[in-house]
Amino acid sequence: MSNQYDLVIVGGGYSGLMAAKTAGELGLKTVLIEMKHDISKANRVDCQTLLPMAEGEGYLEEIVNLDPKTGVIKFVKNDVSFKSGSPYRNVYGLELDSIDGQTLKFGDPNVQRKLGDKGRICVALDKSKVLASLLEQAKAAGAEVITGTVVTGVSKTDEGVKLTTNKGKEFSATFAIAADGANSKMVQQLGLNKDRGYYSSMTVLGYYAEDLKLPDPEVIYYAVARYEDAGVITAIGPRPYDNKNVVVFICVDCRVDLLKFKEYFTKETKLSKWFEGAKMELVNSSCGNMWATLEKPYKDNVLLVGDTCWCQESENFGALLSGALASRAVKEAIKNNNPTEEGIKSYLEWWDNSFYKNPKYQRDQLMGNYLLGTILNNEEISFLFSKLNTTLPASIHPYTLFADLGEEIGKVAGEIQEKMPSVLAGLGRLQQESPAEILKDAAAAGFPNR
Ligand SMILES: Cc1cc2nc3c(=O)[nH]c(=O)nc-3n(C[C@H](O)[C@H](O)[C@H](O)COP(=O)(O)OP(=O)(O)OC[C@H]3O[C@@H](n4cnc5c(N)ncnc54)[C@H](O)[C@@H]3O)c2cc1C
Repeated sequence: MSNQYDLVIVGGGYSGLMAAKTAGELGLKTVLIEMKHDISKANRVDCQTLLPMAEGEGYLEEIVNLDPKTGVIKFVKNDVSFKSGSPYRNVYGLELDSIDGQTLKFGDPNVQRKLGDKGRICVALDKSKVLASLLEQAKAAGAEVITGTVVTGVSKTDEGVKLTTNKGKEFSATFAIAADGANSKMVQQLGLNKDRGYYSSMTVLGYYAEDLKLPDPEVIYYAVARYEDAGVITAIGPRPYDNKNVVVFICVDCRVDLLKFKEYFTKETKLSKWFEGAKMELVNSSCGNMWATLEKPYKDNVLLVGDTCWCQESENFGALLSGALASRAVKEAIKNNNPTEEGIKSYLEWWDNSFYKNPKYQRDQLMGNYLLGTILNNEEISFLFSKLNTTLPASIHPYTLFADLGEEIGKVAGEIQEKMPSVLAGLGRLQQESPAEILKDAAAAGFPNR
């Protein structure tokens, strides 16, 4: 038997929950289906920051504010807000590190800290608490939430769309929102992965750490390494609690044994001193496909949000915002009795203007730090960082960050070329080749859900 809704949402991450909260508030008959039993359990590994928030730094043509008293986070231009439900901690800088201890700083934390909130580049949140808070807000707004259920099929109907689940139930709705993340079943079933650029299957191990000996507790560290011929990032970010961090090992090549890398990194590199006497608890591991951004986040009455339609570089920021705006567009279409692509055009226009057709963002792009370890070896990474001994602008903007870096490299290119020409040859690949070409060996070992 089929249940009839205005909107069915697949996935209860940031994007799906924000879509459910918004739809409920707008009076849409909404159901959210999530495969996890406990939505607040953050199975998906991430550094739990909300980025970027540097003073005046726009992202996706938005500015984000956090009210320290109420914990309300607001995307100002689109007038989208939610209660975070989490303590937070300001982050005042980002540092790239080579495994032999060369550093490249984006912002001087001592300078930024003096500016208070105006000096932060982002905030660290407790993702489980935010998920729990969003869930509560979605339910309070009237959205129905079904957990422990996997959506297995999607098809177009005369009235809109029909979804099937692993429990044999059917859900019919005027629209669906696919918010089921990087390995989206919905996108696969809609046929949108068929010709899509695929970078690789990225494996991740996430730990909660206590008592790390970091140079500064309010900085995000990205250690960039090559290991077994692949690029591996170790991202260390603050949690919103004293002496607590998230440590995430990330590899763009799923053949690499990350547990072995973790042992090597925390015991044998120069940075192992950060881990002396620290407690590390493995909290989650995941493998997410890294896809190129889709041209249109819509097909057959299904709107795509968050990681389903772009690379994870839209981040938590983009996931939250796109979820809210997709539900708003659904409301407009239903109100205007126009349940078609034309009816939801405000969402597609937002997507085009703020991201897809925005010259600031390149679609076939992957954050440069993921690729550094593939295009340069450890000696070259160390040499490069040692030559960039200036502090770059305080930022964690996934797109502009590497443009700033490129500019700085340009200033010392002559010296690099003279002393270690292979560095510029390696970096040149970022201009000449797409991420898919650079990662083609890793991609061949991956498992895209086309
Ligand atoms: C290593 C790493 C570090 C990161 N660090 C940061 C960071 O510090 N800051 C930041 O802003 N972003 C970060 N990101 C990106 C961020 O995590 C994602 O962009 C964000 O989680 C996307 O949210 P989402 O709701 O679109 O998808 P997800 O969070 O993946 O949620 C998808 C939901 O759908 C459910 N689901 C999947 N399939 C089905 C199905 N068939 N039926 C029902 N339910 C289903 C899943 O269980 C899940 O709950 C990071 C990502 C990675 C990989």
